[in-house]
Amino acid sequence: IDVNIIPFGKSPDEIESILVLLYDITQVRRLETVRTEFVANASHELRTPVTAIKGFAETLLDGALKQPELAEKFITIIANESNRLETIISDILELSRVEKKSEPMVVKPFEVVETVNNLIQFFYKQADKKHISISVDAERPVMMKADQHRIEQIFTNLIDNAINYSDVDSEVKINIEQVNNSVHFSVSDKGIGIPKADQERIFERFYRVDKGRSRNSGGTGLGLSIVRNLIMNMNGTIHVESEVGIGTTFHIKLPLE
Ligand code: ADP
Repeated sequence: IDVNIIPFGKSPDEIESILVLLYDITQVRRLETVRTEFVANASHELRTPVTAIKGFAETLLDGALKQPELAEKFITIIANESNRLETIISDILELSRVEKKSEPMVVKPFEVVETVNNLIQFFYKQADKKHISISVDAERPVMMKADQHRIEQIFTNLIDNAINYSDVDSEVKINIEQVNNSVHFSVSDKGIGIPKADQERIFERFYRVDKGRSRNSGGTGLGLSIVRNLIMNMNGTIHVESEVGIGTTFHIKLPLE
């Protein structure tokens, strides 16, 4: 709490009344903490690949360049870490855009089931490598009036996670259903699951249950924050249901218009 005391009176020696103002600055402080934490996390995430790139480049200049096998190995690492840097930067920029709502929505009618069926084709290769099947279940077409690109972004993030956090020989199921004036989606996997204590936190920026696993699969810890913001911007809701070792389902509700 911030306190402001203002005395009233004819002169400083003759105070008749005192006005005491109490400001509840919890919210302001909280926002400040969130911002500082974000900058600290972002810097840390960016520093990791930069350190690797710098280190391997210097080692190459120090002589490793003359050993072709070693050189190729180091240059591959530099290329991979540069890609990682690019992914982190584009996720940070995307999160900032959705948080600020700086890009106008492109709202038009489209059919969701077909959209998702087209989208999952981009995941077949990634899923095939782990023998994971992806299927879409929907009784009938669902027409929506929304920003199609944003709906695709939501599914892209959730499907990517479902594949990444599943072991081999598994399945990812998507359900789409119209309920009155809204559309209900779910994306389910039979993967590693999320411990109860982490379920609330996975939507926070940079929060990961297992940092190593996330990084190895190219994760930045920002995907679900982007998803949650996209859904909030469309007046929808998202919640997770998960059990460790059994699997995870994300449930989403969005208004049809
Ligand atoms: P990341 O880039 O790390 O995947 P996300 O914001 O998409 O970041 O997800 C945050 C964390 O939530 C992940 O690091 C992972 O620990 C957990 N998570 C997300 N989706 C799933 C899932 N389908 N199954 C298990 N864990 C998940």
